[in-house]
Amino acid sequence: MNFSPITISVLLTLLSPSLLLCSGESTVVVDKPPPTVCIIGSGIGGSSVAHFLRNYSVSTGLNQAQILMFERREIVGGRMRTVTVSGDTFEAGASILHPKNYHARDFVERFNLTVRLPTAIEESSAIGIWNGKKFVFKTFGCFGIKFPFVDKIISLVNDLYLFLRYGFSLLKMSNFIEITVGNFLKYYESLESRPIFDNVEGMLKWSGLYNLTKFTLQEKLSQLQLSPVLVNELVTVITRINYGQSVLISGLAGAVSLAGSGGGLWAVEGGNWQMAAKLINHSDVTLHLNEKIESISNLGNYYELNSSKGNSFKCYVTVVATPLDEVDIQFSPAISIPKRELQHTHTTFVRGLINPGYFGMKSVSDVPALVGTLEDPLIPFSCISILRKYNETDMTYKIFTRQPASDSLLDDLFSARTETLRIDWGAYPKYHAPEVFAPFLLDDHHLYYVNAFENGASTMETSAVAGENIARLIISRFMTKESSSSSDTRSCSSDLHAEL
Ligand SMILES: Cc1cc2nc3c(=O)[nH]c(=O)nc-3n(C[C@H](O)[C@H](O)[C@H](O)COP(=O)(O)OP(=O)(O)OC[C@H]3O[C@@H](n4cnc5c(N)ncnc54)[C@H](O)[C@@H]3O)c2cc1C
Repeated sequence: MNFSPITISVLLTLLSPSLLLCSGESTVVVDKPPPTVCIIGSGIGGSSVAHFLRNYSVSTGLNQAQILMFERREIVGGRMRTVTVSGDTFEAGASILHPKNYHARDFVERFNLTVRLPTAIEESSAIGIWNGKKFVFKTFGCFGIKFPFVDKIISLVNDLYLFLRYGFSLLKMSNFIEITVGNFLKYYESLESRPIFDNVEGMLKWSGLYNLTKFTLQEKLSQLQLSPVLVNELVTVITRINYGQSVLISGLAGAVSLAGSGGGLWAVEGGNWQMAAKLINHSDVTLHLNEKIESISNLGNYYELNSSKGNSFKCYVTVVATPLDEVDIQFSPAISIPKRELQHTHTTFVRGLINPGYFGMKSVSDVPALVGTLEDPLIPFSCISILRKYNETDMTYKIFTRQPASDSLLDDLFSARTETLRIDWGAYPKYHAPEVFAPFLLDDHHLYYVNAFENGASTMETSAVAGENIARLIISRFMTKESSSSSDTRSCSSDLHAEL
């Protein structure tokens, strides 16, 4: 059979998705349409993937990629969200950043956002540890005291109080936190010296953090010979506040939680969600708000994403940037990831006045501004804190509970309530030890999962770190596949030449 060069090129065009045209002896490469990268989720994880993809792919085949982002809700930011209570704005989800959260720092500087340091009330509030019957430990607050030297004395007295109760275990704990944070800093090393990781275990092993996921925080702290009183009281209060769970969480999640209770914490003025908004706005992303992805099908050379709006999208790369545990995305073929449950944290905002009688106190001022609790199933809340004090009888509080806060509980806890607002968060994984991890790569093509890293720890910064690694993984795999597919196509086209 005789083929004209035109017929051959038409045939090859149909056969080869890369549009490699052969005619006679020469090979003509026709520009391919830029690949489409689809990101599901507009939280800090998804928006970081978009940001780092744009930054790192400048001289790669992905530099022209079209990035589509899908968000089922009407706003971006995911678990970074603010609420308004009586006209004042408060963080409802992710609230605080560590001083060494360097990606977040960079986002804030890069996009001219403003750092918000703790307010006086957050910084100087008294802390009380409630065991269900009494406060087993209380510090002094200095809120309202105008003289800095008085603040200083109170702070010294508090340090002394802490030392008298917990002794040198406090130093051991702070050493443990420092070492863990030091290991985490490896994720900011230069691109040349830092590998690209295709699985979470390898990523954690490289920084020396993996071992911490093998033990519970309690086991780890007992190995370090911390006093059980410190673990059962202060450490428990912190893990209940930060992860809604006990000291039986993994050592890594526990260390991250403890690091989040130190000094120098900060937030973004006006809301942490703005980091995601800025990253998206500056990464040339086509954002589809109110569009939930319902299915992802691998159709060979691309993925077909179907949305709640009845739309279909063709994506060369697909990134899942949301925990898959409570979303019902249908994968075809099915994917296999370890079962994971999310810890629900019910966040309730109350404007009103705490009931001192609940705590066996006579006066509101006797109740510490931050009440943390011990691990006891009979205690119906994890913590209560004052967010804003309007006057002595009117304040806004935030309460964390594991179950929805019923009206009767709130009526017990508060003597007056003028406004109540409830949010139920599928907040973070339920941590176990030894921890098991889902893969970053959900198939052997281009289906990625940022939130596999959340089994290590769940924070804004860890999502950004995971997102950065996923962006590098996409680029490196894209480059490898492209070079192998173009050499495949070359050999395939020469085979065709031979046949023809
Ligand atoms: C109450 C609370 C307090 C916290 N406190 C802190 C803190 O102080 N500091 C800190 O660093 N971290 C904190 N965290 C953890 C932190 O919020 C998360 O680790 C981080 O924000 C996760 O970001 P992400 O982008 O990975 O996921 P998410 O923020 O959950 O983003 C996922 C996005 O995907 C969207 N989505 C889901 N399914 C679909 C679908 N099918 N189609 C389209 N879109 C979809 C979701 O709507 C969501 O917007 C807290 C979390 C909670 C809940």
